[in-house]
Amino acid sequence: MEVPFNVLDRQFFKYQSEYEQKVLEVLRSGWYILGKEVQEFEKEFAKYLGVKNVVGVDNGLNALVLTFRALGIGEGDEVIVQGNTYIASVMGISMNGATPVFVEPDEFFNMDMKKVEEKITSKTKAILVTHLYGQASNMEKVIEICKKHNLKLVEDCAQSHGAKFNGKMTGNFGIGCFSFYPSKNLGAFGDGGAIATNDDEFAQKIKVLRNYGSEKRYYNQVVGYNSRLDEIQAGLLRVKLKYLNELTEEREKIAKRYINEIKNPLIKLPKVRENATHVWHLFVIKYENRDRLQEYLAEKGVGTVIHYPIPPHMSEAYKYLNIKKGKLPVTEKYAETVLSIPMYNGMKNEEISYVVEVLNEFKG
Ligand SMILES: *Cc1c(COP(=O)(O)O)cnc(C)c1O
Repeated sequence: MEVPFNVLDRQFFKYQSEYEQKVLEVLRSGWYILGKEVQEFEKEFAKYLGVKNVVGVDNGLNALVLTFRALGIGEGDEVIVQGNTYIASVMGISMNGATPVFVEPDEFFNMDMKKVEEKITSKTKAILVTHLYGQASNMEKVIEICKKHNLKLVEDCAQSHGAKFNGKMTGNFGIGCFSFYPSKNLGAFGDGGAIATNDDEFAQKIKVLRNYGSEKRYYNQVVGYNSRLDEIQAGLLRVKLKYLNELTEEREKIAKRYINEIKNPLIKLPKVRENATHVWHLFVIKYENRDRLQEYLAEKGVGTVIHYPIPPHMSEAYKYLNIKKGKLPVTEKYAETVLSIPMYNGMKNEEISYVVEVLNEFKG
């Protein structure tokens, strides 16, 4: 049997007629940028998250870039971020001229809050937490640290749509930055992103920045960006948002089967923190000789991906930071041992069973 790592057409076909109808509606409306669909999506997603404002933007990276720009964080400032995050989180910081300062992850792959305070200097302006793989980070602890040291809190929610900490959704604690890249839990059919905030003034600043720095057409207050979410993607996201809880439950069912049925002592399964929920953007296992396991699974027809093989501090792009190999041992170890196995909406029961069976037969 062949089980691909991910297939995106199955989730499309599930609500095909609604998506197709929505695209036709937008095409026929004659209005394609910043119109009713974006406005309505912003309202509906804000309601879903339980946050006052959502501002749609063009992608997840720019949600972060605009957020740090609007916070006035740039040249000479430092932002604390976890070492094992997706590199876009780090780019959101450095594209504004600020310096990323890396903290090691904990056993849940999220920021190890015990190691944050030792990284704070007089230059530190903010903490960026990524709710990595779909699990909410320890927000209680990070909020305490931010209050104590007067730091801004930004959440990278690109993988955590709907995940909760203490019953409250991610994106609600600090400024929430979302991606709607097609493979994300709330994925569009192209690029998209959003910023969530309870601060009305901050939301207004983002609205100005995303549209050439203008509130009123042709009156430009600042040098801004073209970072708008378009009407077709917003319309499609409105359709998918109605089913997001259902889609999350489907992922939870797959995760539950993996956790209950994978019984190979060689393989380490992911753990979920007390008070946190996991929306299973990715199901990440660990094995000492990961490359061997990946090869074995490929031979058996099971697709896998490594999230991520090169931590940001060791990538070519961040060579200038001059952080040597060995400085972030937990991060580096994860990069060598993590492996993501198939997890997606529309995965069939027999496919899940096959992945389980093949993993249980793995002898090392
Ligand atoms: C996907 C992702 C991003 C970037 O989002 P894009 O929409 O692809 O720009 C940022 N951070 C994390 C953690 C992501 O997974």
